[in-house]
Amino acid sequence: MPRALANTGSKPYWLDQPAAPDPLPPLHGTEQAELAVIGGGFSGLWTALLAKERDPGRNVVLVEGRRIAWGGTGRNGGFCSASITHGLGNGHDRFPGEIDALERLGRENLDQIGRAVARYAIDCDFARTGELAVATEPWQLDGLAQAALGADRLGVGTRLLDAGQVRAELNSPTYLGGLWDPDGCATVDPARLAWGLRRTCLAAGVRIYEHTPVTAIRSGNAAGRLTLSAPRGRVLADKVALAAGAFAPLLRRLRYYLVPVYDYVLVTRPLSAAQLASIGWRHRQGVGDAGNQFHYYRLTADNRILWGGYDAVYYYGGKIAASLDQRPATFGALAAHFNATFPQLDGIEFTHSWGGVIDTCSRFCAFFGTAKSGRLAYVAGYTGLGVGASRFGADQRDPGGVR
Ligand SMILES: Cc1cc2nc3c(=O)[nH]c(=O)nc-3n(C[C@H](O)[C@H](O)[C@H](O)COP(=O)(O)OP(=O)(O)OC[C@H]3O[C@@H](n4cnc5c(N)ncnc54)[C@H](O)[C@@H]3O)c2cc1C
Repeated sequence: MPRALANTGSKPYWLDQPAAPDPLPPLHGTEQAELAVIGGGFSGLWTALLAKERDPGRNVVLVEGRRIAWGGTGRNGGFCSASITHGLGNGHDRFPGEIDALERLGRENLDQIGRAVARYAIDCDFARTGELAVATEPWQLDGLAQAALGADRLGVGTRLLDAGQVRAELNSPTYLGGLWDPDGCATVDPARLAWGLRRTCLAAGVRIYEHTPVTAIRSGNAAGRLTLSAPRGRVLADKVALAAGAFAPLLRRLRYYLVPVYDYVLVTRPLSAAQLASIGWRHRQGVGDAGNQFHYYRLTADNRILWGGYDAVYYYGGKIAASLDQRPATFGALAAHFNATFPQLDGIEFTHSWGGVIDTCSRFCAFFGTAKSGRLAYVAGYTGLGVGASRFGADQRDPGGVR
């Protein structure tokens, strides 16, 4: 094992903070709800909050199998992108006739997240830093130029940078060029955003139960409501929003659309002022390289570097297990790539290493639907770009008005 990884802790950096709230009690007995939300990640929290914003009198219950933000929501890179289609290129390929509207809606969605953070005074380091895509191989330069043209066509103000310009932003000897979108992404502390949404939901009257895994969803009770079964209780609900991410879908049909894929992350010690000066990064953008197996990285508020990506690992049979959260081979590869990118930081230690599962779908962006005679709505498939897009997903209403 590289020396830099000798002392890493296995808890996700974001969840390893004194600001973590105490757990809420699990559900005991029978609850009644007009809307029951399953899952306490961004999808579920936004769904509950937006339902209350629309109708403050609505009776809303949220049940989470573990802790709020325990899933992808507390483990991600904290890139809160304006794209709701997993990037402009993917959006253009999948929805060529609608991409202009989807880009506009995505930017509005990111604006709305910023407004909610301000309105509810959520202390989560939300910063509209923009995003820098970097080319580290000559073949990637063409892709960036194409992306710049696509963005221009939609009136998105990106800037194509040559090697000197991109290194003036962030100094790595591996960079050959870059594309900067100064407005299309924010960085955020995802756990503190989720905890702030939890607090806001509670203040709005949402009843939240943690450590309450739903084991079955049944229809057919006399009042036509759905019954959510949990180990020590149940919820009788007029409508249900299923926001369970990649985890063992309660709805059979979702199993055909979702592939659980693991993604891994490292976080360094805080950089000293001299270390930070050696790499620049004045604008503190989120960064991603343009490789097929790409890395994503960013600064935290206390000037650590979060460095993740590259390997995307599928385990046989779609296995999801706590033991898979650690993968030394991937951490070793990530540390080596980090050193090649920033040789100035040679010897810096990593304090945190973790993994998390991504709800990958073949379309690479979220899909929505209803089941149980229109009483249940589901959303899943964010494929690693759901921090921002999950608010857009939560804001959708089907014609029957599930949410
Ligand atoms: C390592 C990693 C890095 C990522 N980086 C980024 C990034 O930088 N930017 C970005 O946009 N996206 C990123 N993502 C993806 C992003 O985290 C997700 O798209 C987003 O958090 C999705 O939120 P969610 O609420 O849909 O799912 P989750 O956060 O996974 O929440 C689902 C919740 O449902 C609960 N649940 C499941 N089943 C049940 C049940 N039966 N009963 C009760 N509760 C249940 C789970 O416990 C979980 O808390 C990353 C993901 C990972 C793993």
